[in-house]
Amino acid sequence: MKLVATLLGVLLSLGVHAAPVIIYDQDAGTNSGFDSGEVVAPAPGNEATTLGGQRLRAVRYAASIVGSRVASTVPIRVAVSFAGKAGGVALECSTNSATLGQGGATQYAVNFPGAPRADTGYPLALANALAERRLADTKDIALSFNPALDTGDADCLQGYRWYYGLDGKPGDHEIDFVATAVHELIHGLGFQSLVALTNTRDAKIGQFPRYGTSQSPRFPDIYSRFIRDLSLPGQPLWTDLTAAQRATSIGNGPSVVWADPTTSNAAAGYLTYGLNQGRVELYAPATIQPGSSISHWAIALSPDQIMEPRENPGVDVLHGLGMASCLLENMGWQLANGTRCPDVNSTAIAGRADVTIAGAAAAESENSDPSGDEGDNDDDSGGGGGGCTVNPNAAFDPLWALMLIVACGVLVWRRRRVTA
Ligand SMILES: [Zn+2]
Repeated sequence: MKLVATLLGVLLSLGVHAAPVIIYDQDAGTNSGFDSGEVVAPAPGNEATTLGGQRLRAVRYAASIVGSRVASTVPIRVAVSFAGKAGGVALECSTNSATLGQGGATQYAVNFPGAPRADTGYPLALANALAERRLADTKDIALSFNPALDTGDADCLQGYRWYYGLDGKPGDHEIDFVATAVHELIHGLGFQSLVALTNTRDAKIGQFPRYGTSQSPRFPDIYSRFIRDLSLPGQPLWTDLTAAQRATSIGNGPSVVWADPTTSNAAAGYLTYGLNQGRVELYAPATIQPGSSISHWAIALSPDQIMEPRENPGVDVLHGLGMASCLLENMGWQLANGTRCPDVNSTAIAGRADVTIAGAAAAESENSDPSGDEGDNDDDSGGGGGGCTVNPNAAFDPLWALMLIVACGVLVWRRRRVTA
């Protein structure tokens, strides 16, 4: 019996395939985004000679890094835009500050078949992976990047520009695009809390969103279930607090930590800063930062981590996702390609996930896979036959549309501040 179990374990682990990723061009037909014909010099590892071509290759490279770390039989659909706004809000760029990009899950699902925890919101890509079928016929992740960083305009971040090379070595006054795209993609896999950081029409600060109509109950997301506040009596989980208590906790700084003990153990041998009572600190500044608070590691972490709220030029995403892999695994992602917690590899990790480009852009993209099954975006299950199963008893539940709005409201910003 034991032998059988062991063999089964081996077979299962061999069967863990990296998540395929399909990239959707949200700017198609606008001569911008991936279609921009602006002539540029080739960058290291990125030989395209148009701005659009370089963007496409860099996004694809980032997707191959992130997709290689997690397992899913359902392709992860990623919508990408360079239109300079997200959710109708412009990505700002001023002399000393810029929103580099924005990314997150488009929707969350609760109580779907295969959900590990009841009454808990799961980001769509993870919900699909757990259910082993597509739960909603939509994009799973939406990413927006700031095209102002392609202008070199001195009024925008003092002339800093995107670096589209694939070697992780941006020069002076350059920002590594691949690292930024990896950061935003990880948000899309669920590295984000849906707790309200401000009072909105739909929620008061500290509340979780409703899943359904205005009468439906509020449920925590899976990320928020792992948050603990060490400053409060009994060091409670966030899910044991009232919304009003959470509203205070959001700004409790280093006392707000990631609760999982396995991740704490892994961090003990890896992080030299950013631990409080042995637990990894989340970003919880006293002055709440909408779009950033809670949904990142604390800035204090060392070695620097890709999921800190601000760009750290020294972070190497080519060799792993660091502590982010621990968090993804805690939330329910099965790790692929031998990914461990923390994810720190001796060799580069790109190229171990199948990344395809949906639609017209596919014809222009370079396929690194010589077998060339490009264009066959083998995204089999087109929506699960009306099984948008938030409520298993309903054939279709309109809350998906509502959730799209809610999720758009909490998409996560990434900022870099430059002090001259
Ligand atoms: Zn972020």
